[in-house]
Amino acid sequence: MNGELRDPRAMQLVLELRQNGITDDKLIHVMERLPRDLFVPQAFQARAYENLALPIGYHQTVSQPHVVALMTQSLELNDRCKVLEIGTGSGYQAAVLAPLCRRLYTIERHKGLLVAAEERFKHLRIPNITTRFGDGSKGWPEQAPFDRIIVTAAAIDIPPVLVEQLAIGGIMVVPIGDDQHDQRLVKVVRTDEGTKISDLGWVRFVPFVEGEALEH
Ligand code: SAH
Repeated sequence: MNGELRDPRAMQLVLELRQNGITDDKLIHVMERLPRDLFVPQAFQARAYENLALPIGYHQTVSQPHVVALMTQSLELNDRCKVLEIGTGSGYQAAVLAPLCRRLYTIERHKGLLVAAEERFKHLRIPNITTRFGDGSKGWPEQAPFDRIIVTAAAIDIPPVLVEQLAIGGIMVVPIGDDQHDQRLVKVVRTDEGTKISDLGWVRFVPFVEGEALEH
């Protein structure tokens, strides 16, 4: 990773995150050092460190840094966690998660986005990310159970398939609602008896699409 070099714009950004309730020091450490400009297209370079979602092509967006931080913090990660992300997109959220867990598995349905994200992981020398091109609505059964699951696109309901792939005691965060409106960010904890659900507030995500992955 980017060693101890910190972009002043990233330092300003994490200051803003702290002011908005992000308290996890390890997470702040990672976000302060991660060059978000690498994940953002040329046309949006000037805005790479603003607290904004930005277009990444294919009608998709890299999430707002505050939402990335909130979702990551809500996962209560540790270095033993095996984590599944649905919706690799630019790879920014994945690059935030990877240093905070044992291994991250991430699935993307747009081949072009996945290939670009893989190049970024290589460039940043992030060793513990396993990628898959495909439809994440089925989860990743061969690797289940996961200690944590993060869905970075909005689902209409909590996907039962993903709850089944969550370990007992595991945590999932997922935006719930349709893509015409803002959605509620929901935290699901799987217990022996079922699930415990809590609401983390309003978010705005592109839709979680079920169906074939796209080869371009
Ligand atoms: N985590 C990403 C956010 C990307 S936006 C980032 O940090 O940049 C959401 C992504 O989810 C899009 O790239 C979209 O193609 C992907 N997606 C939506 N439905 C999916 C599905 N069923 N399987 C895999 N990826 C999906």
